[in-house]
Amino acid sequence: MDLEAVEMAMRSAMHRAGAAALSRLLSMDGGHPAQVDCACGQTARYHDTRPKHLLTVLGPLQIERAYYHCAHCRQGHSPRDHELDVEGTQCSPGVRRMLAVVGSESSFEQGRAQLELLAGLDVTTKAVERHAESIGADIAAREQAAMHRAKQLELPAVCAPAVPVIYIEMDGTGVPVVAAERAGRAGKIAGQPARTREVKLGCVFTQTRVDEQSRPVRDEASTSYVAAIETAEDFGLRLYTEAWNRGWSRADKKVVLGDGAVWIWNLADQHFANAIQIVDLYHARQHLWELAAPLFGGDLRGRKRWAKRLEHKLDQGKVETVVKTLREFPPPNAELAHLLNNEAEYFERNAERMRYPRFRAQGLFIGSGVVEAGCKTVVGARLKQSGMFWTVRGANAILALRCNRLSGKFEDYWESRARAA
Ligand SMILES: [Zn+2]
Repeated sequence: MDLEAVEMAMRSAMHRAGAAALSRLLSMDGGHPAQVDCACGQTARYHDTRPKHLLTVLGPLQIERAYYHCAHCRQGHSPRDHELDVEGTQCSPGVRRMLAVVGSESSFEQGRAQLELLAGLDVTTKAVERHAESIGADIAAREQAAMHRAKQLELPAVCAPAVPVIYIEMDGTGVPVVAAERAGRAGKIAGQPARTREVKLGCVFTQTRVDEQSRPVRDEASTSYVAAIETAEDFGLRLYTEAWNRGWSRADKKVVLGDGAVWIWNLADQHFANAIQIVDLYHARQHLWELAAPLFGGDLRGRKRWAKRLEHKLDQGKVETVVKTLREFPPPNAELAHLLNNEAEYFERNAERMRYPRFRAQGLFIGSGVVEAGCKTVVGARLKQSGMFWTVRGANAILALRCNRLSGKFEDYWESRARAA
């Protein structure tokens, strides 16, 4: 006996029987009023009973429901569709949730294949794309509304318990976009159009304790994410709104962590004033190693000795010594003189954000590993697979959906939109 063939056939049969029962249940006619309110404000009259095709988790089925027509605006509608939350769609809420989940996890084609195998549902790749994007866009629209309230200083008070330390980390990562989205934008190589657009990713998490070695421990499952392709100004408001909802204003200690990117610290000054600002230690070290390479060329031992010494100074928070060393280094040529000057300015500008011993003594994180991991899990794993090219609209919808799910907010969102329907 081929068990797999039998179990799959049995599931199909159960689905068909279930679909038939569901179809009868949904079409049961308990009578219908002669007239209902129309969206235009007038009254719509019962016209006839019409069939509607639906794809449910039990498979395709057809229901019969009363159809009303308004003589005033000449529009027709079925109140039953609104009741069942299937207005303007042929997919049931259960199927739409599945489409959103698989579409946020992997490519739309993989999602289609998974639904076929795991749920016995026959959908098109396009349907996965359309529904995942439309649910992501709905989540994004709700976030926009919250951001608007934040702008008007109308955010509701947060009831979450106060936390000892709250962190914000920010980073940017490129996502490949279709040609139309990069026209006229300068790329990294001079004269070449950009192949990617920058996704700005932010995360918020909390810390309550340190371990036996006084190293900070991130509160489990406390990380939430926001991400979008948008201006630093819009992103700042987005991250601020998220931080507010996480209890930013009531935390004992507030920390912003990032690499040296200027936009990050502009946003930190603007939205997260009086937070402790920390430049990721590993990025700062990287700057030293990347400078040492052209300065010492083939002299590997000299390169290593020099970089190690400065790395040690950096770890001790002696940023002035690092700056002085860079300023006093005899530049071999004009190009390297320029590079040395740039790097000296980088350390000078960020000096107060590099007092690592002070941060360590307070039991704080000094690396932005959470947002870097987020760049891979939130963005890379879904949006940077080979052969993928995004529109900004499509990418932002899927980013909103992924952030929502990875932040553990999807069940609440789904429930709230069902209640609204
Ligand atoms: Zn009307």
